Amino acid sequence: MIAGIEMGGTKTVVAVGQADGTVVDEFRFPTTHGEETFKVAIDWLRERGEATAVGVAAFGPVSVNKARADYGQMLQTPKPGWAGFSIIGALESAFPDVRVVLETDVNAAVLAEAEGFEDIAYITIGTGIGGGVMADGKLLHGAVHSEFGHWFPRRAPGDDFAGVCPFHGDCLEGLASGPAMTKRWGKEPKDLLDDAKAWEFETHYLAEACMTLLASVNPARVVIGGGVSQAPGFHAQVEEKLRARAKGYFAALEENTPFVVPPKYGQQAGIRGALLLVGS
Ligand code: ZN
Repeated sequence: MIAGIEMGGTKTVVAVGQADGTVVDEFRFPTTHGEETFKVAIDWLRERGEATAVGVAAFGPVSVNKARADYGQMLQTPKPGWAGFSIIGALESAFPDVRVVLETDVNAAVLAEAEGFEDIAYITIGTGIGGGVMADGKLLHGAVHSEFGHWFPRRAPGDDFAGVCPFHGDCLEGLASGPAMTKRWGKEPKDLLDDAKAWEFETHYLAEACMTLLASVNPARVVIGGGVSQAPGFHAQVEEKLRARAKGYFAALEENTPFVVPPKYGQQAGIRGALLLVGS
């Protein structure tokens, strides 16, 4: 038996399942602070017998680089009860003989969505914006972990919104996250579906994001998920803007249609990815 834990900002999913990512049994519960959240997950797993391995898909900021002294820990975060909490420590003391593999939540989703692709990227747009990348079949995370939401896109023509990122103002997350849309238009994204201008701006920024991925890590496909991406026609509009920017220059884009797609596994991508971390 293998197990997976997907830590989300508001809910945590713990599951047992198969090496191919199939979930056999799962439990969803509200995320509180580190100690308590992991106690609930560990107790649930114990009731199901001893797993041989546990894959963890963690929200950030989390140290996923094994070369660092703080590997396995949550880094500085305003989220109460998480800074300095050791995910690896909690699981290893509960299950001393169990193999534990830790990844960022977006990289776990990349793994679930890859299915046959060795070069693929995943962007999620919700309360924040996150990105994960698989290149040459390997998940990338760099020195600490990716902060893909915090790079600086070109402005959409006519957009003078200051942005909502407390650190940078108008980084991608500051301009295009769910809270950015709500602040900019005075309505939540789900109440903006008929507002063409709102989606003109939103898809502009996501096309900028795809362009940066295309030019830097050269994926054969970009998956965009998260609540904000569920507007009708969203992915096609991003792809159209991306192709208009790329001007036929990038082989990876020319050879792959569609290039910008919704997640195949939707809400299940994270927990499937957590199982695949130890199953594959
Ligand atoms: Zn920022």
